[in-house]
Order: sequence, then C-alpha cells, then structure tokens
Amino acid sequence: MKRIVILGAAESGVGAAVLAKKQGFDVFVTDKGQIQSHYKELLDAHQIPWEEGQHTEDRVLNADEIIKSPGIPDSAPMVQKVKAAGIPIISEIEFAGRYTHSKMICITGSNGKTTTTSLIYHIFKKAGYDVGLAGNIGRSLALQVAEEPHEYYIIELSSFQLDNMYDFRANIAVLLNITPDHLDRYHNSMQEYTDAKMRILQNQTKDDAFIFWNEDPVIRQELKKYHIESRLCPFSIIEKKGMIAYIADGEYVIERPTPFNMEQEELALSGKHNMYNSLAAGIAADLSGISNDVIRESLSDFEGVEHRLEFVCKVHGVTYINDSKATNVDACWYALESMTQPTILILGGLDKGNDYNAIRDLVQQKCKALVYLGVDNRKLHEFFDPLGLPVAETHSMKDCVAACQQFATPGDTVLLSPCCASFDLFHNMEDRGEQFKTLARSL
Ligand code: ADP
Repeated sequence: MKRIVILGAAESGVGAAVLAKKQGFDVFVTDKGQIQSHYKELLDAHQIPWEEGQHTEDRVLNADEIIKSPGIPDSAPMVQKVKAAGIPIISEIEFAGRYTHSKMICITGSNGKTTTTSLIYHIFKKAGYDVGLAGNIGRSLALQVAEEPHEYYIIELSSFQLDNMYDFRANIAVLLNITPDHLDRYHNSMQEYTDAKMRILQNQTKDDAFIFWNEDPVIRQELKKYHIESRLCPFSIIEKKGMIAYIADGEYVIERPTPFNMEQEELALSGKHNMYNSLAAGIAADLSGISNDVIRESLSDFEGVEHRLEFVCKVHGVTYINDSKATNVDACWYALESMTQPTILILGGLDKGNDYNAIRDLVQQKCKALVYLGVDNRKLHEFFDPLGLPVAETHSMKDCVAACQQFATPGDTVLLSPCCASFDLFHNMEDRGEQFKTLARSL
C-alpha cells in the first residue's frame, strides 16, 4: 500500500489525511507544534495515526509521497531531509485535484485574493450553483472532495500552495497583481516569487480562461515569456480596447461572453483596488454562465470581508477603519489612496523587508499624523520622521488607539493599515484587528 505522510496538521493537512485514508492509502500525520483538539478528533474518527510536538524521522522518510502544509517553509529541517531523500512533496490542493472533476476557479495575486474569492463565491451562491469555498479560506478542498463534493470550487491560492502544485489545472485562473511579498520565503528573489504566482497558469488548455489585471507591469512582463493556451481575459480601469471588462466613465462593463454593464457607483466595494477585484469576479461569473441580474445584484450587495478596509465606527466625528490585513506596502498604498479625509495612519509590526518609498507621497498628501505600533519601530522612525508629521511611538493597541485619539479631530479618519505582519505583538492579523475595533468602539 502506498504511504502518504502529511506534514502539518491544520485545515489543509487534516483534510488531506481524511481524503488519503478514504482513497486507501497508508496515512500518517505529523506536526511539530500542538494539534488543535477538533483536528485530533477528526483524525481519530477516521483512525488516522498522528503525532504532535515532533517529526519522527523514521515514520516520515518511509513515505512514497509527502503532503506539506503551505505554512511550513522549505528551509524547515524535516523538509530538507525529505528533499534529500528524493521523496516528492505536493500540496493539499494538488492532492485533492486528483480526485475530482469539478470546475476549479482559482484566485491568486499578492493582494485581493480573499476579497475576490469571497465575492466570486457570493455570486455563485446567489446564482444557486453547487459551490464550495476552499484554499486559504473556508474548509480544505481535500475534505470537501472527500465528504461533501461540489460541482464548482472557488479556491484562494497563495504562492506557497502554488509552489507544490504540478498537475493541477484551473478551469478559470485569476491573477490579480504581483507586488513584493513574502520575499523572505523566496531567497529575497522577486523572480522566484513571481514564478510561483505564474504557476496558476500551468496545465491550462484552450477550454480554460485566464483572467488578469492588464496594467500590472510584472504580469505584462511575464506574459511575454509564456505560450498561453487558455482564453485571455484582461481587465482594466484605464483602457477599453482589447479588454474583456473595464470600468470607464463611471460604468462597469463586461464585453464578453455575455455583455453586461452597471453603474460604477452601484458597486458595493469601494476603493480603486476593489474595482479590480469586482472586475475579476464579474468576468469569472459571466464566463460561468451566471445571469446578468444575479451578477448585478451580487456586485451591489456584497458586504466585504472583515479586516479589509472595514468601517468600524464613527466616534466624536472621527471615522475608524480596520485594514489589519494590509500586511504589505502595496495594500496600504490602496488604502491610503482611497482616503478622503485627513488620516491618522497606524503603521508597524513585523516588517517583511518593506520599501516604504511606494507610500511616501501618499503619506505626505493624506496623513496628518502617524502612530507606530510595534516592538521595534526604528525603521519607521528612520523613514517617516523626516517627513515632519507628528508621530507617536506605541507598543500596545491600547496606547496606539489612545495616541490616535489625541491626534484626531472631527472629520478625520483613523486608519489601521500597518504594512507589516502582526506576530510581534498579536496572535495574528485578526487579533490585531479585533483589538483595534474593540478599543475604537469603546472610546
Ligand atoms: P489577500 O487575500 O491577497 O491577502 P485581501 O482581500 O485579504 O487579499 O486584502 C488584503 C489587503 O490588500 C487589504 O488591506 C485590502 O484592502 C488590500 N487589497 C484588496 N484588494 C487589493 C488589490 N486588488 N490590490 C491591492 N490591494 C488590495
């Protein structure tokens, strides 16, 4: 019997284990950390052996194939040993893809994946399609394939998942943008990271579609290198010519296959970045045969996703916005770009090698004060203090919100869009966003 070993026992790993067991493999799950109790129960219920707090080498290196959680970097010692032993490593999505013929709509990009994936799912649900949400959000694809298969899957793919995908084929691939992110996991190489994103195209045939943002300089450059079989579906907010969809003169338009249009101001999601997300989602829906009425209604009643430019409250005339998910400079750029009031910007956390030059001008134009929030704020001081704006140095959300309140006057906006990961002071970006919202609401 072929042996499959799964490294990492969270959503993707446990789902892969259940599917592998169902397919008759000899399965073993190992996690170097502690496994959450509900995952242990699921593994036990399927009589799948597991270990936590260690990787027992003998039980890993006798595998025929390894399924690795996207959270485990290639530099992890066990991964290095697996590679040295020549054992193939795949991702959970790659594995699940072998056991389904459902239609796969896959979304990647440096920013906007969760928003666009959720929006597409919202449209498909409203259309009454049998659809599952998978990848970085929702339940793992493998578990759904094993236990409640759907006709369509809307899958958010990170570069880490794409890294270990080989034969998987996206029927509709969406590539939103490529800007620097996670370079620490790609030997600081933008090209290596870009190559991972472009893997979304691999195995596409002429029956498939490739939706992409036409103005992204990196995507444009990359497309010159590839011979693409699938149907090209570029979108734009600058050009109309050659585009499958665009926004121009206040109108949102899809040209093909079914012509569609609506007023731009009816779109539920605001901000320039969300125009791209709404265009990508609309094309995916149109290509899948969803009616214009459903697309129109869904694009105008989508409620957005928590922690992404999320309106929190208005207190004493000051608007509070939670964009805790802005963990890189590009996401913050779009947040600032959409600000219409004097802004107090909260920046800081774990810096993934940020170059703040990209937001320098916007900070000067839009911000009246900056509040640094992190264990180590030196890089922020060095870069932003010379701009001459009032700044505050804080090391907890409580002090941060208090500092914002000091700076703010009626008519201002306080924006948490920190450009950095959250793990220095918080469990994760959700924790950071929740603490911000709770404190803002209690002012
Ligand atoms: P991802 O899943 O790729 O991280 P999200 O939808 O969670 O993307 O959004 C992450 C951050 O990026 C948020 O701060 C959001 O406001 C911003 N953002 C969303 N869509 C885009 C886009 N198309 N381009 C740039 N930034 C975006």
